[in-house]
Amino acid sequence: MHQEVVTALALHLEVDYWRLLHICDDDCVLCRLQQLLGFAAPTCVRRNIVPHADYVSICIKRVMPATVLTLYIVLILILVYVWKRYSVIEYLTANGIRYYDFGDRRSARISVGLIGSVHGNEPVGHVALSELVRDAWFDKFASRGLFIRVIPRPNPWGLKNGMRYQPSMMHPDINRNFAGEGTDPTSREILRLIGDMDMIIDIHEGYDFHLLNPQSVGSTLSPSNSGDAIAIAKLAVSRLNQDIIDPFHKFIILFDQACVIPNTLACYRKGKQAQYILVEISGQNDIQPIDVRKKQAFVIIDVALNYLSSR
Ligand SMILES: [Zn+2]
Repeated sequence: MHQEVVTALALHLEVDYWRLLHICDDDCVLCRLQQLLGFAAPTCVRRNIVPHADYVSICIKRVMPATVLTLYIVLILILVYVWKRYSVIEYLTANGIRYYDFGDRRSARISVGLIGSVHGNEPVGHVALSELVRDAWFDKFASRGLFIRVIPRPNPWGLKNGMRYQPSMMHPDINRNFAGEGTDPTSREILRLIGDMDMIIDIHEGYDFHLLNPQSVGSTLSPSNSGDAIAIAKLAVSRLNQDIIDPFHKFIILFDQACVIPNTLACYRKGKQAQYILVEISGQNDIQPIDVRKKQAFVIIDVALNYLSSR
């Protein structure tokens, strides 16, 4: 009986029998047949199928969301991902530092340098920045007037070996080499790349939580003594602390303490009276899971770039 119904309907609509059977379920066939016979069954009314509308188009409308439309969306998402993934250009300096630019430096209103994992045993800067670079996440801020240069891993050997230092007898700690214009090739290259940016955000990791152990700078932000850096630090700490339950794990701001150790990048920036934020997430020796630390880095970067791009 069902086959006869479908055949009759296919003939009436001049549609191939198998196509009709393929794209329509039983309800749809019966519903349309009832319409042809001159009465609207409850299913037709409930499904709001318009009498005498083209049968195939009705069926296609029902099939599209589940199959063809989904495939189109998946295809578009894949194309967008591939385009974004391969549209980011990677630059490589003579001494092996990789960096990435977003935006046009000549026309940008504000330039920002983002650097992570200067110390190789503090991986979250590299992890967070590399993921954002890979996803071309910075593009949206480039279109809002920022030029962003990202150096996720200036110390690749240290990162690979989980060591704070770079392989150098005379100048192992990169963040003690920023005297003058840099006392070793790595610090000189970092300064050449981002030394004159309007803002630098320098992502490190402490070994403990500062509110629990004041000897550690973990879970602190140390802004330079300037309006923007302080405003960003306040906003970021407020956002970060919303997600931290333990009161001793909360972030605080260390005012006027970015440059307490000589020859750090903070002191270089202080000497130039330039804006800078030292980020110290609690992370050495995996004191917190990397996903927690990565999320904290994302929050800080997001707050900073939103603030600067909306000025
Ligand atoms: Zn560090």
